[in-house]
Amino acid sequence: MAEQHVYSFGAGAADGDRTMKNTLGGKGANLAEMSKTGLPVPAGFTITTDVCVHYSKNKGEYPAGVKEQVDAAIRKVEKAMGAEFGSTTNPLLLSCRSGARESMPGMMDTVLNIGLNEKTVDALIKQSGDERFAWDSYRRFVQMYGDVVLGVDRDEQNEDPFETIIDEAREKAGVEYDHELSADQLKEIVAEFKKVVKEQKGRDFPDDPMEQLWGAIGAVFDSWDNDRAVVYRRQYGIPHEWGTATNVQAMVFGNLGNDCATGVGMTRDGADGTPGFNGDYLINAQGEDVVAGIRTPKRIEETFEKDMPAAFKELTEIGERLEAHYKDIQDIEFTVQKGKVWMLQTRNAKRTGFAAVRIAHDLVEEGVIDSKEALNPRRIPADDLNQLLQPIFNTADKKSAQDAGKLLTSGINAGPGAASGKVVLTAETAEAWYNKDNNVNLVLVRKETSPEDLRGMRVAKGILTAQGGASSHAALVSRQMGKACIVGAQELNINYAAKTVSVGGTTLKEGDDISIDGFTGEVFAGLIPTSPSEVMQVLDGELKAEESETYQRYSKIMGWADEHRTLNVRANAESDDAAEAVAFGAEGIGLCRTEHMFFGHLDEIREMILAETAETRQKAVDQLLPFQKEDFTKLFTTLAGKPVTIRLLDPPLHEFLSDRHLEEEPGLDEKLAKIAGVTKEDVHRRVSELHELNPMLGHRGCRLGVVYPEVTRMQATAIFEAAVATKQAGHDVYPEVMIPLVGFKTEFENQAAVVREAAAAVFEKAGVEIPYTVGTMIEIPRAALRADEIAEGAEFFSFGTNDLTQTTLGISRDDYGSFMPQYREMDIVPADPFQTIDQPGVGRLMKIGIEGGRKTRPDLKIGICGEHGGDPKSVMFCHDAGLNYVSCSPRRIPIARLAAAQAAIAAG
Ligand code: PEP
Ligand code: MG
Repeated sequence: MAEQHVYSFGAGAADGDRTMKNTLGGKGANLAEMSKTGLPVPAGFTITTDVCVHYSKNKGEYPAGVKEQVDAAIRKVEKAMGAEFGSTTNPLLLSCRSGARESMPGMMDTVLNIGLNEKTVDALIKQSGDERFAWDSYRRFVQMYGDVVLGVDRDEQNEDPFETIIDEAREKAGVEYDHELSADQLKEIVAEFKKVVKEQKGRDFPDDPMEQLWGAIGAVFDSWDNDRAVVYRRQYGIPHEWGTATNVQAMVFGNLGNDCATGVGMTRDGADGTPGFNGDYLINAQGEDVVAGIRTPKRIEETFEKDMPAAFKELTEIGERLEAHYKDIQDIEFTVQKGKVWMLQTRNAKRTGFAAVRIAHDLVEEGVIDSKEALNPRRIPADDLNQLLQPIFNTADKKSAQDAGKLLTSGINAGPGAASGKVVLTAETAEAWYNKDNNVNLVLVRKETSPEDLRGMRVAKGILTAQGGASSHAALVSRQMGKACIVGAQELNINYAAKTVSVGGTTLKEGDDISIDGFTGEVFAGLIPTSPSEVMQVLDGELKAEESETYQRYSKIMGWADEHRTLNVRANAESDDAAEAVAFGAEGIGLCRTEHMFFGHLDEIREMILAETAETRQKAVDQLLPFQKEDFTKLFTTLAGKPVTIRLLDPPLHEFLSDRHLEEEPGLDEKLAKIAGVTKEDVHRRVSELHELNPMLGHRGCRLGVVYPEVTRMQATAIFEAAVATKQAGHDVYPEVMIPLVGFKTEFENQAAVVREAAAAVFEKAGVEIPYTVGTMIEIPRAALRADEIAEGAEFFSFGTNDLTQTTLGISRDDYGSFMPQYREMDIVPADPFQTIDQPGVGRLMKIGIEGGRKTRPDLKIGICGEHGGDPKSVMFCHDAGLNYVSCSPRRIPIARLAAAQAAIAAG
């Protein structure tokens, strides 16, 4: 028997069902399912996604057998609906709609009223007794078909010629709306439309119903590859190979009089999750009118019951049945024709993060699903929890800004949240303005940020840079601080001297208002108001948990996630953010970047850098010890017995002192010369010695400690003295000392020896022993490849996937913004590899590292502390690869907790 390409549905029966989404697309599968459950679905058939794939590959050729199967399916529809396609006495009209496996709302094409021509329109007039309705249907058909199938172009003024004709007709008739046009006027419009087709396309508008139908089917398949659909798929990770199905269905009419209506609704509110049937509808209209915005639709929850009590009751019951059947909120399309309800679509509704949490929670309370099912990533995509934590723009305010042309540009959405405030271009100015007024809202705008911008970043609400990528300094620091951040907005032209930021023709001065949406990467001129989330208000102690239902639901979901996950979740944090991390549920610190703690003590670290001999360096280093000890003691105390991984100094020294610093701060050379007891020339010479052409591959990581062991010794001593002090103050403490950028076992051994010696000395002096471990980051390929050897000494591993991605791909984490957007657009890479682990490459190395490490030490504790540790897809990978924990910035902890649970549940 020939392969089945066409599946019929309707009239209480169907060839397919809801399990067949891959073949029938979501819409087709659900139309079949609704038919099977006895819901009123106009009869029709689905042409499979395989046909689309074949059609795309073979330049519009259909597989053998499709035409015959379509013919047979039309006969079934005719029988079910009691009408005949193309009949001039009792015509059946058809619709043709796309429907992929995953819904791609509005991205592909639809054609309605197929089968109308000069003869069938007469029959429709007789049948319906409504001349105006028949001509309006024909007008709609010619317009849609002309647009979608025949590709009628806009005119020289970039106007849609069909719309121009309607506008003129309305004007001539002196009416405001389309539905006020008379049958005769509509008839004239149809003739005008056909003229446009003839002029533009050099052919007559097709009259033959079968030709019309095949034109529409082809257009729907073609629309799988239109720009909008391609861009949408890229954004949501939908494979291009899937193809769409085409659904052909008998038309039902919501525009046959005042006992007719059409609408789209949801069984709960998709924005906030409130239960109850809601949505938009129009009396005496066709589906497209509701979404087209020509007439303002009415709200179902407000007036539908009054307008059509019987239909309202039936639809409410259908909604409840569908929810019970699909165990999820449904998004439905319906038409009421002469009082009879017809279902045109149902699907699991799209929802915001807020609604996702509420609906999943409520469905568990209602006994519809269990807590495990509530955590399904289809119900709560882990990333969407962001929305419950970050300040947000009110949708209407953002839309008005967009409509007012305030959108300036966009960049990489590196730190979620919305921020608006005054443009400030330097950290010093930011601090100065903040010190004058603690309530001032600032957005720090820089070409890029470096560690000395931290103070400015801390007081700013948001950070915007022209350069850099998702793991650039600006990105990871702002995420860690929980600030909205956009990086790599390359169109920004920042002039520090003139204190301006410009894009195209718009220039903002320092102090002017700017707004950034870190969820989307959009940058706006002017102020869009933001509001803090309720969950954050509770976590910050500004709102009581009992007063926030949103918080209570969030907290329940988090509790369920914790029951199911096996991965531990830690934080990348070192100072004030550590307490926030604990509030978010961190089970330890996975990465304390000690260099971030140095920034309050720049003079001392610069003195250390300028030291020429071991003795003078020792002297400078000794000054840093008490600061480090104090910071570590605070951190250990905050973590109250939870493990704390402290990484030794990692960045190249010129991040603390370079020509740029000397240029930007007049007199700095003189000041430093005095502090370090050297000449100004010495300062400049040393700075030029530190300059590196390729700093990310230069003198950094453990290479610093190998050459300057006194720095490692000082840091280790500070760690253990702090641990002893914490213990003596009555708190448990578990330090884990981590050596960065190890490639050779010998590097690790060299540094571990210094750390262990320092520990022994501190413990002996204090008369206290504290258990600790020394481990390493695995962040360059050689470390992964030689993991078995390295694990002989290293007691834990933590994958530094920022550097591991950089070194494996040979792509600079700070410079990839100049080509990555294009790489994404051209599908050269499936995702930004600095956000989501490149599993075949970097992931492969991780697996080699895990296998090697555990060969030597079967119980080796392994984690990840690169930015990927808070990315749901990467967390899934980490779970499957057998990691013990993921570590991420504090605000991503809830996301990682949920993603870890989802990974554990998926793995069974
Ligand atoms: C890493 O490389 O993944 C890492 C966590 O270290 P850093 O980002 O500080 O280089
Ligand atoms: Mg690193």
